[in-house]
Amino acid sequence: MNTQELIKIEDDYFINTFTRQPIVLDHGDGCKVTDIDGNEYLDMFAGIAVNCLGHNHPKLVKAIQDQAEKLIHISSIYYNEPALVYAKKLIDKTSFDRIFYANSGAEANEGAIKLAVKYTGKSEIISTVDSFHGRTIMTLAATGHEEYHEPFKAVMPKGFINVPYNDIEAIKEAVNENTAAIIVEPVQGEGGVNVPDIEYLKEIQKICNENDIVFIVDEVQTGFGRCGTLFAHELFDVKPDVMTMAKGIGGGVPMGGILATEKVASAFVPGDHGTTFGGGPLVAAAANAVLDAFEEEDILANVNEVGEYFLSELKKLDKEIIADVRGVGLMVGIELTKPGAEYVDKLREAGFLINCTSGNVLRFVPPLTITKEEIDEFVKALDEIL
Ligand SMILES: *Cc1c(COP(=O)(O)O)cnc(C)c1O
Repeated sequence: MNTQELIKIEDDYFINTFTRQPIVLDHGDGCKVTDIDGNEYLDMFAGIAVNCLGHNHPKLVKAIQDQAEKLIHISSIYYNEPALVYAKKLIDKTSFDRIFYANSGAEANEGAIKLAVKYTGKSEIISTVDSFHGRTIMTLAATGHEEYHEPFKAVMPKGFINVPYNDIEAIKEAVNENTAAIIVEPVQGEGGVNVPDIEYLKEIQKICNENDIVFIVDEVQTGFGRCGTLFAHELFDVKPDVMTMAKGIGGGVPMGGILATEKVASAFVPGDHGTTFGGGPLVAAAANAVLDAFEEEDILANVNEVGEYFLSELKKLDKEIIADVRGVGLMVGIELTKPGAEYVDKLREAGFLINCTSGNVLRFVPPLTITKEEIDEFVKALDEIL
């Protein structure tokens, strides 16, 4: 079938939830992906900041192949070695004590909020405007976009308060004796690559410590090296009570998780939470391969070096249409003075995949393995198109 015939199947049979780019991708290698017509693209989007090792990474592919031949799924009723080994390996690199395996970002956040409510026995969650925490009903309530809530108003849970991002006074005003948790992204992703002041997370931590409120960082997008440290909250020198993760964790396999301190984690007992698929051997084998590659290939060093270079090259672009250039590591955005959708199309036609978020922010979240040469290629095309 050709591209048009395949896309028609989506039109005819899929529940209508996405505005998709009109290409059918077939295979990839490193930072390049190729569609079924043989057109090659430089992938500056990495499946929404997911493919941290790029496409077809030999170690990741081999880990998945080898595990698939042994066991794919067993349920959480039995132990599996990859998930056990991974838990220790990951937690040893963080300030947390315990893990829960989930399957997606929304599900990780859903579980984290349940944990905070159980731990505190309280009923209110503070989150931020323009945040994104997922599409389940509860994570939607935490997501600071009124327009997403609107159609589901009838079933939206109570107790969710959205306050402006990077505004510590707004958090102080919202905190009260019912507050169970404050959930924030260390850098807002979908909201337009918004980097907070260096003190913001520290101030939140202080408020949480003083009031026995659970401090949850949503690192679904910022985690796994995206911002140049394994987790972005490290940049802000804080020790949250709970962290959620997903996107980059398995290099592309669907996986998520919650990390928590011993104190907060202890609130859950068997029956409080669960999952059929979470922490299965296949995805855990992939996650182990990702973490090993981070060490063997010094991925974080590449993020810092290439990320800094990328940002400085973008800042050199001298265009009327650019309102702001911002980001950390390889989570970078250009805010335009007008809607960005047409530039996404033009760049795709020129062989570059990017995305536009928040209406006018071109977002670049390439594989963490991207090279300076590939950045040069991209910035040149962007310069011409803008
Ligand atoms: C993508 C994202 C989510 C939701 O993850 P899903 O896997 O799509 O459920 C939650 N939080 C943040 C910060 C995200 O970027």
